[in-house]
Amino acid sequence: MHRGLIVQKFGGSSVADVQRIQHVAKRVTSYRKKGYDLVVVVSALGDTTDELIELANKINPEASEREMDMLLSTGEQISVALLAMAIHKLGFEAISFTGAQVGIITDTSHTRARIIKINTDKVKEGLKRGRIVIVAGFQGVTLNQDITTLGRGGSDLTAVALAKELKADECEIYTDVEGIYTTDPRIEPKAKRIQAITYDEMLEMASLGAQVMQARSIEVAKKFDVPIHVRSSFSDNPGTMIIKEVKRMEEVVVSGVTLNKNEAKITVCNVPDRPGVAAKIFKELASRGVNVDMIVQNVSHTRQTDISFTVGKTDVQKAVKFTKKVAGNIHSGEVLVDEDIARVSVVGVGMKSHPGVAATMFNALADNKINIEMISTSEISISCIIKKKFSETAVKALHEKFGLAK
Ligand code: ASP
Ligand code: MG
Repeated sequence: MHRGLIVQKFGGSSVADVQRIQHVAKRVTSYRKKGYDLVVVVSALGDTTDELIELANKINPEASEREMDMLLSTGEQISVALLAMAIHKLGFEAISFTGAQVGIITDTSHTRARIIKINTDKVKEGLKRGRIVIVAGFQGVTLNQDITTLGRGGSDLTAVALAKELKADECEIYTDVEGIYTTDPRIEPKAKRIQAITYDEMLEMASLGAQVMQARSIEVAKKFDVPIHVRSSFSDNPGTMIIKEVKRMEEVVVSGVTLNKNEAKITVCNVPDRPGVAAKIFKELASRGVNVDMIVQNVSHTRQTDISFTVGKTDVQKAVKFTKKVAGNIHSGEVLVDEDIARVSVVGVGMKSHPGVAATMFNALADNKINIEMISTSEISISCIIKKKFSETAVKALHEKFGLAK
């Protein structure tokens, strides 16, 4: 009996050790027994990718990106082979492939490659022979046969792209939590699982710090309208659907609260207030590959102004170095760095049609005597930079204020 095709992705924590791999094998084969065709995407065991990066750093902190990809792609090659063996042991047919073998063709931007096309012949052939097809996540190959990787968390992208290409009936992303929550349950135990969320909200939440799925994979899912089912590998509970539009009985203004502690704030003091100065600073940073996020420039009363912006923690040193360089050239004052910050954000498509969300957010923070250092908004989110020590209080206050525990 042919019931349809499911693409299932299992993340590093669900294949962290022998028992978990065996557990995943059981889970996968239970679907096979029901008559489904299965393509299973796996990422590297546990923290393997981080460990490999550490290893490389010890040998050469400036390792070439091509060699990094050679190294990192091995993590997934281990897990697919082990999963295939575990499935064989249960008496089912399975075959594992690397990204290159299944023809995931990417561009040449090593460590963050983009998928150009997928040649699905090999997968289809495996399925036709009645095998469970296991694909190494996070990797591809260039037309020149160089192995590439798709950016951290890239196995999600492999799964979504395969689901799209194979016109799968379902794309299931398995994690160690029950789905997407209104906020991080480790911070706020009252956090609730969200039944369904839109691509836009998920994209916003992923980029603002919710660590459930790779943001790029959601972009692709949105572009090709691939519904995603995020669920736990440890239970049969319903999880969260990520889809185009969520029909709710009553309008929800805010769907989730996120926290990101991985940014630092840089302030350039006493910047001369004349055209072209901001351009100089940010052009320099862009050319050094530093991703700048929130930017705030104060009003100037004295023909001088302060410019503050945030960058990812990993870029801080680089950012400071080059900001100081430009600051010297344009004769501005000191460059200050503050790593003691956190970003709290509220996200929801409902805020497009509801005024007053910002006011409510600021009030909730004020009620807890939390000072706001920077603010930024998008159509469906509002973020505030606050002192790190207030992170948990802020998340809880916002979760409460927007009625998310109900
Ligand atoms: N193993 C890779 C990483 O840790 C890819 C993934 O987990 O999806 O980033
Ligand atoms: Mg991983």
